[in-house]
Amino acid sequence: MQLIIQHLSKTYPNGVKALDDVSLTIPMGMYGLLGQNGAGKSTLMRTLATLQDADTGTAMLDDLDILNQKEAVRRVLGYLPQEFGVYPKVSATDLLDHFIVLKGITNGRERKELVEALLHRVNLYEHRKKAVSSYSGGMKQRFGIAQALIGNPKLIIVDEPTAGLDPGERNRFYNLLSEIGENVIVILSTHIVQDVMELCNNMAIIHQGRVLYSGSPMASVVELKGKIWEKSISKSDLLAYQQRYNVISSKLVAGKPLVHIFSEVDPSMDSPGDGFVSAQPDLEDVFFSTIQGDRLPAR
Ligand code: ADP
Repeated sequence: MQLIIQHLSKTYPNGVKALDDVSLTIPMGMYGLLGQNGAGKSTLMRTLATLQDADTGTAMLDDLDILNQKEAVRRVLGYLPQEFGVYPKVSATDLLDHFIVLKGITNGRERKELVEALLHRVNLYEHRKKAVSSYSGGMKQRFGIAQALIGNPKLIIVDEPTAGLDPGERNRFYNLLSEIGENVIVILSTHIVQDVMELCNNMAIIHQGRVLYSGSPMASVVELKGKIWEKSISKSDLLAYQQRYNVISSKLVAGKPLVHIFSEVDPSMDSPGDGFVSAQPDLEDVFFSTIQGDRLPAR
């Protein structure tokens, strides 16, 4: 099974081009869609989840035409939207049962068994009688995954699932996502590089509606080997460095900016100068260098 998206474009009535000729081939397993806020991720996720239409392009899940066979797609789709609204005061058991009915499973006994199995699976069984609206952010997201798993979907879409989770909750959520079967396609949209690094075998970087990179996170990091240099500088010098070098990121380490620059120096030279030392590239370097200047070839 694979999902093939070809030439998908979408311009909103206000003129914003949210998707600009997006083409992607998404294999089974966990796929990361990485982009800053406003990049077009939700627009793509909602389109694939049959909730809105594209202007042009196609999306095929094997033989299934996602843009035109919406009812059939919904039967094999699990979706965790960015904003997962819940009714106040409804318990996890009742709410999940409600979603199961909506998914077309009406047999009472089957429903009861499914509710229990799903709540066990996402580790919420002991909290099943509490209102979902009273759950912590991480518990709500795990509940969201339980509802997305109803009916053994083949395509699971999770939109920005870890935004706002504390590190412990994020870890539990990662573990849960990584346990979802390998025989499904899981598309995870996120602006958090770590999400993709920890979970995904394949990814795309999307920026201003365009795909700037697609491939394996590991391969993208290898492509940057020898091109990333770092130096700890003082805050007051940052602007000068930004003017002189291709600064791709700067983060505070022990109160001082540690800048990463992109530089393709001659291999016979051991530094681009100024005391920069070679840094081991990581996915964050890939992400920032890609969205700043298309330095990796788009595929
Ligand atoms: P992301 O999920 O990556 O943050 P979105 O798909 O939500 O990106 O948004 C992409 C762009 O489209 C943004 O500039 C956003 O402001 C705009 N946009 C999103 N939804 C709408 C809408 N319903 N009407 C007009 N513009 C929208």
